[in-house]
Amino acid sequence: MVYRIKRDELNIFLEGFARKNQLVAPLKGKLAKFELVKEEQVKDIYLEKNTYFPAKEFFFKKNETVFTFKDNKIQEPKLETPKRIFFGLRRCDLNAVKHQDKVFMEQIKDPYYMAARENSYLLGFHCWEAPSKYCFCGTLNLADYYDLMFYDKKDYFLVEVGSDKGKELIKEFKTLFEDIDITITKEEKKIKGADRLLKDDIKGLYDHPDWQKGVNQCLSCAACTNLCPTCYCFELHDETKTSNIQEGKRVRNWSSCQVLDFSRVAGEHVFRQKREERFKHRIYHQLEYFKERYGVNMCVGCGRCIQGCPTRIDFVQIINEMK
Ligand code: SF4
Ligand code: SF4
Repeated sequence: MVYRIKRDELNIFLEGFARKNQLVAPLKGKLAKFELVKEEQVKDIYLEKNTYFPAKEFFFKKNETVFTFKDNKIQEPKLETPKRIFFGLRRCDLNAVKHQDKVFMEQIKDPYYMAARENSYLLGFHCWEAPSKYCFCGTLNLADYYDLMFYDKKDYFLVEVGSDKGKELIKEFKTLFEDIDITITKEEKKIKGADRLLKDDIKGLYDHPDWQKGVNQCLSCAACTNLCPTCYCFELHDETKTSNIQEGKRVRNWSSCQVLDFSRVAGEHVFRQKREERFKHRIYHQLEYFKERYGVNMCVGCGRCIQGCPTRIDFVQIINEMK
């Protein structure tokens, strides 16, 4: 099903939603990121380029209190399930949500993630061409995953419905959407200039000497995993006051396979002691291990880990140059 909405009516639609519920969309600021957008900020929504930061932390929070405890009693937090529209997610970021859904909602159900995700609507914004020189989503076989997808056609947007939730939204704002009888083909959806990764099968390349080009520049700083919309590793720890360790909270924080402590276990053994092992582990998790478990690449080709790396390590280029 495809609809059309006039360009100047898109803001009416978004303002209408922001008035009653929560709207999350990209705002430019110093570095573009997804933020809660008030009705009067709808005109400032930034769609020129993809955001520097992904929308990940709205579902998988950077810091989350799992429970509080006092005198041997545990209190779980009351989880909120706000009705939220996410507008402006690109194909890469929509697939990133899909991949995190697999991790947090399929076999093991994570109540914190599920509460944040359950009542959300994913509204995509199609890239006709790669918005950054670091993008490479084109090689990764990404799926159509959205409630509504918006295709910018200058004076109007074509809007493709991807789910019942999307249908429900169109119905709610039906005076703004015109039903039109067309289909958008796979060929039309192809994103120009996003095919920069030449091979995503790196199974036989683990011992290739070219990895050293990245390893030698890597600072193990974890900027890459923090900026990645698909990385989902976390650590749990307890926070208490030294004056009373019977009272406190258990907190979940984002963590990273790039830091030494990540694989430290009891007895002080560290499984990935060498920087080389940590560097390769991230790339292999993104392009191999996740696929072995879930059938798809974890990486969605957004290029944020390359753009945000302080030494600009481009693992795509490293893979492309491997003979
Ligand atoms: S951002 Fe770059 S330097 Fe930092 S850990 Fe990742 S690859 Fe290494
Ligand atoms: S590994 Fe890099 S390119 Fe792939 S999804 Fe994560 S940030 Fe994007």
